Amino acid sequence: MTTGTGTQAAPSSNWLRQFTGLLSSDLNQQPGEFGLGQVPARLKPDAIASSVCGFCSTGCSLDIHLRDNEPVNLTPSIDYPVNLGMACPKGWEALTPLSADDRATTPLLFNPRTNVREPVDWDHAMQVFALRFKAIQHRFGRESVAWLGTGQIPTEELAFLGALGKFGMGIRHGDSNTRQCMATSAVAYKQSFGFDAPPYTYADFEDSDAIVLIGSNLAIAHPILWQRVLQNKNRPEIIVVDPRKTETAMAATKHYAIKPKSDLVLFYGLARLLIDSGSINRPFIDAHTSGFDSFAAHVHQFSLDRVAEETGLTGEQVRGFAESIQRNRAVSFWWTMGINQGHESTRTAQAIIALALMTGNIGRPGTGANSITGQCNAMGSRLFSNTSALLGGRDFSEPTHRREVAEILGIPFERIPKTNSLAYDQILDAIDEGTIRGLWIVATNTAHSWIHQERARKLLCKLDFLVVQDMYHSTETAQLAHLSLPAAGWGEKEGTFINSERRIGVCRKVKTAPGHALSDFNIFRLASHYWGCADLFARWTSPSAAFEILKQLSRGRPCDFSGIQNYGHLECSGGIQWPLPDSTVETAGQSSSKPAQSLSYTRRERRLFADGKFFTPDGRALFLFATPQPMPEKPDSEFPFLLLTGRGSSAQWHTQTRTSKSAVLRKLYPQKLYAEIHPLDAKRLGIGPKDSLTLTSRRGSATARAFITPTVNQGEVFLPLHYESTNCLTYPAFDPHSRQPSYKACAVAISKANP
Ligand code: SF4
Repeated sequence: MTTGTGTQAAPSSNWLRQFTGLLSSDLNQQPGEFGLGQVPARLKPDAIASSVCGFCSTGCSLDIHLRDNEPVNLTPSIDYPVNLGMACPKGWEALTPLSADDRATTPLLFNPRTNVREPVDWDHAMQVFALRFKAIQHRFGRESVAWLGTGQIPTEELAFLGALGKFGMGIRHGDSNTRQCMATSAVAYKQSFGFDAPPYTYADFEDSDAIVLIGSNLAIAHPILWQRVLQNKNRPEIIVVDPRKTETAMAATKHYAIKPKSDLVLFYGLARLLIDSGSINRPFIDAHTSGFDSFAAHVHQFSLDRVAEETGLTGEQVRGFAESIQRNRAVSFWWTMGINQGHESTRTAQAIIALALMTGNIGRPGTGANSITGQCNAMGSRLFSNTSALLGGRDFSEPTHRREVAEILGIPFERIPKTNSLAYDQILDAIDEGTIRGLWIVATNTAHSWIHQERARKLLCKLDFLVVQDMYHSTETAQLAHLSLPAAGWGEKEGTFINSERRIGVCRKVKTAPGHALSDFNIFRLASHYWGCADLFARWTSPSAAFEILKQLSRGRPCDFSGIQNYGHLECSGGIQWPLPDSTVETAGQSSSKPAQSLSYTRRERRLFADGKFFTPDGRALFLFATPQPMPEKPDSEFPFLLLTGRGSSAQWHTQTRTSKSAVLRKLYPQKLYAEIHPLDAKRLGIGPKDSLTLTSRRGSATARAFITPTVNQGEVFLPLHYESTNCLTYPAFDPHSRQPSYKACAVAISKANP
């Protein structure tokens, strides 16, 4: 083994046995995992363990029913302040993927002589892990190895990965699949509010007089939040902005079916109308914001005629939209991937923020410029993955921030990089250029989900060494790996998630991982030992120990949650939204003192900015804007249709790695890719219902079954994102500020496939 980057020599296999107390060369044994091999004693037979769901960012709590220490069923937690006794189909089936036949149970190492990936024990696997990555770094430099992480694992795990990767293994470049869904919101908030701080609480859905949903099919993507909308007793206006007549749009009061990617023009036009009619909150603007006059001058060029022409709406519709914002006391603006996954997404999100700021719709019940996150722990990743932001939402470029982190972690200051990582797409470009040659992928499925999939797969195959750590060795990405590491899944380990409304909740271990699979946390522990830097992470002994470190990292930051005592405190409080500094004592259901930050309380829910103080140096929110840019790939005579992508059903999750394991969920959605196409387009092309179609872009082709429906406009076609071939078509454009891929619009041709 080569020399470690830390001060500790790499361990022997004997050490490994002592360390784990469980590993055996006999792969038929059921070893459990480090010190956590048994279900905790407090989970007695016939007990119930509550755990935050591991799919989406809503953060529902599920009561897992145990018999003889084995989970036998689950029900949604009745009194949890997020889901109030509800769960979507994925939540009800959350346990099923753990029992899938294709669970990864042992490390697999690719043998080039036999062309087969062969089982190896953990000792062998981790020796190879360290040896190969170090050899690449030795030959090509530290920056030649990178990682791609996830928003699907607990905060304690992703913080461990980020700290180990950057401070222990000397890896400069690591990014996460949150780049694919939430990077835009993170950048937009940070630039406008001074910190990545979604301001809202879910109670705002129930307190609004008007709810504006932009690029969000809430009824499908976040069905429990849609239920919260339906509980609003104010009979709110529900306004949906979406090119497609989604399930949410069908149920809305108003649906504005704008031309794809014309959002920015629409919002600037609305801003001008509101300014011209005097429907702005001038006292709020003057007291709490900067840059409004420049913004007002910028939006003056967006006349009603221009906005109507570029968005496809009538002038009357645009005026009606502005009047809805004007006449309602509490207006909340919500957005998801329809905004985030665009070529000018950061400025579009900031145009939404501008509408909220200029009308004073922030910091009050039922208001806010509110990004809804995607993955169960995207918010944890945004603050603690140590990728684009230093731990705790700090800046790598800020020496005082680096010093704070070094002191809290007890690591040498010099180990903390002075610059951000390359973003996901830039890491792939570096693989193409040959400067990155080793990659460690944790709990994400790049070969399926990345934009322009064929290129992504080619690049993964180009690597000298690819390690994939996942619950299944069967994912499209894991099948390309030189080394596959079997990981425990949700329900087989402990930790915390942070949901969309900043609520920290606990996920509990209720089941032992199969075979030799280990929690990601313990795989990182192993990696630190085999790399020879375990001394740097001596305090990272368990998820709960890591949570104490996270609390310290949060202290004094806008996301301060040092007032949370422990996992039990979170459980008995129904989760806790940050901030909760340790000067605040919060007990179940109430707060005994108000923390320093500007919060307002609603039941067990809290929002930010009640006092109009933001996290910028001068406490003012910023108006930020730009000139709208043309769509990167417009339809033309060769590729005349515009492809839209999005979520297909509430029973599917992303690349279906887990949801496809459930026979119940599989019954709730079509098994084969389908394409929504307008009836007039179908007629013109001679396409009948359920005909097989070929969709072709400049990057590849996909076969789909025709679903003829007026939910899409003429000239547009919709594909759900969950099917493998959708990303054969997508065009790799990126927002320049967030580097988030623009999945939502590209040019395709459609023809009837040969029977
Ligand atoms: Fe709730 Fe999302 Fe889980 Fe469904 S997938 S139960 S909405 S957290």
